[in-house]
Amino acid sequence: MAHILVVEDEEKLARFLELELLHEGYEVSKSGNGREALAMAQQGQYDLILLDIMLPGLNGLEVLRRLQQEKPVPVILLTARDAVMDKVAGLDAGAVDYITKPFAIEELLARVRVALKLHAGPQDGAPGRDGCEEGVLRWGKLTLSEQRHQVTYDGNEIPLTNREFQILKILLENRDIVLSRDVLLNRVCGFDYVGETNVIDVYIRFLRSKIDEVYRVKMIHTVRGVGYVIKSESEK
Ligand code: CA
Repeated sequence: MAHILVVEDEEKLARFLELELLHEGYEVSKSGNGREALAMAQQGQYDLILLDIMLPGLNGLEVLRRLQQEKPVPVILLTARDAVMDKVAGLDAGAVDYITKPFAIEELLARVRVALKLHAGPQDGAPGRDGCEEGVLRWGKLTLSEQRHQVTYDGNEIPLTNREFQILKILLENRDIVLSRDVLLNRVCGFDYVGETNVIDVYIRFLRSKIDEVYRVKMIHTVRGVGYVIKSESEK
């Protein structure tokens, strides 16, 4: 089971996160001090770190920078509302995601699942990949080939832009996991678009008009207030 380090100096929040993560079955360690957290991360083996930015001892961004140089671990930053520069600096320094306080615990847990899944070691046997052909994702009659950079439905090629292709690929790789607009943006568009998450809505609309509407399927589901998901075929 994944071991998560929670670095947060607000004790109540840290305790709450610890209890929720334990409840989900993760192993949890905690620290409320940046310097201590850095030492723990350097010495221990963690699968993911939830890292507050404003911390006593050493600021979270500095912890992140030092850690990424020596021992890269997936990090989700806990940032204050409107701290756009912190988010950009954090993503630049190697954080895989950020979440703005105050957050709904369900959203945090969803992001934890995504981060652990995307950054787990070998992806062999990961759910959502079927067939033995390398780099090919399938959903019903839809096939996405990474090598050919091609998507077909029942043998008919669907012309997609590069970003539409990337979004579809990430959704297919993470079947049954609701991906937030922020996560999709960070993964697909990079840092330029921080804050403009409605860009994702536009790409999703294009994808639906090219796939769902043409082939009369319901592939991409909207989860109100959270994001988007492609469900396994059995639940379609
Ligand atoms: Ca703090």
